[in-house]
Amino acid sequence: MNVFVTGGAGYIGSICVEELLNAGHQVTVYDNLSEGHRSAVDPRAKFVQNSLSDAASVKQVLQKSKAEAVMHFAANALVGESMANPGKYFRNNVASGLNLLDAAVECGVKKFVFSSTCATYGPPDRVPMTEDLPQRPINPYGESKLMFEKMLTWYQRIHGLEFVAFRYFNAAGASGKYGEHHRIETHLIPNVLKVALDQKPHAEIFGTDYPTPDGTCIRDYIHIADLAQAHMLGLAPGTQGFYNLGNGDGYSVREVIAACEKVSGKRVPVVEQPRRPGDPPRLVAAAEKARRELGWTPKYPKLEDIVTTAWAWHKAHPDGYPD
Ligand code: UDP
Repeated sequence: MNVFVTGGAGYIGSICVEELLNAGHQVTVYDNLSEGHRSAVDPRAKFVQNSLSDAASVKQVLQKSKAEAVMHFAANALVGESMANPGKYFRNNVASGLNLLDAAVECGVKKFVFSSTCATYGPPDRVPMTEDLPQRPINPYGESKLMFEKMLTWYQRIHGLEFVAFRYFNAAGASGKYGEHHRIETHLIPNVLKVALDQKPHAEIFGTDYPTPDGTCIRDYIHIADLAQAHMLGLAPGTQGFYNLGNGDGYSVREVIAACEKVSGKRVPVVEQPRRPGDPPRLVAAAEKARRELGWTPKYPKLEDIVTTAWAWHKAHPDGYPD
């Protein structure tokens, strides 16, 4: 298929692009490089540097790519930043995303695959979380992704745009070539691994008074190769709807730090900090729907295996991507 990938220079997008190309698809990456890296784009893909805020460009490039499917990864995705700068999230994730949706309808795209998030749920009434739980986000990031989900539903009903929206839990790990490099790193695993690489003196724990067994937040970490596998399955004609992607196992911040220490063989000193605004205490997926309906089978369900691939990438690329 011809696949148009927004955000293909970013962490999850770059690895999905690699998988798409390995599976024999033709890929056009559209990315403004505000967060992504040019060298994270597989050289077999066609690359266009521009922003989704430029509606005319999106439509023109999409048309030229003859895309049958769109994968939409481009977004701002930091809970903490969204609590300080909500406008950035609504502008980039919702308003600019709408340009892409309109272009997809105009160009007759057959399948739209959307990167959504468990942050659309807010603090859940129960865990593991199924897709039918109420969505009550507690940060603008989650709200902006929920708004896009709702737009997708209306575009499907009114324009017949077939979509799959994946609600990722915590993406982690690396492929052999591509990994996680944010210019300002806020995520837990890469920050802890930076300590193991002697690039930072200590790791920080944001909040030790949550209602969890060790007082720190619990998340469900999912390997990016497993996320990529779900995206390949989502391309199949007839697939449609919302799917959680996680392993169903929750790990606390302290447990993640312990796993990083074990994998790296380095001791990681920690400093306890206050809670980070916008963080729900516990997010754990029930992803049976994706397994049942898409035939999705995660290959790296164990946290230690996930961290092992991340550690290998960070050791090989201690400064991340060169650009
Ligand atoms: N976290 C932490 N220290 C860090 C980074 C993150 O304690 O240096 C916590 C954060 O508050 C959250 C969890 O680790 O409870 C996962 O955060 P991350 O930013 O990796 O992903 P998010 O869940 O926000 O998507």
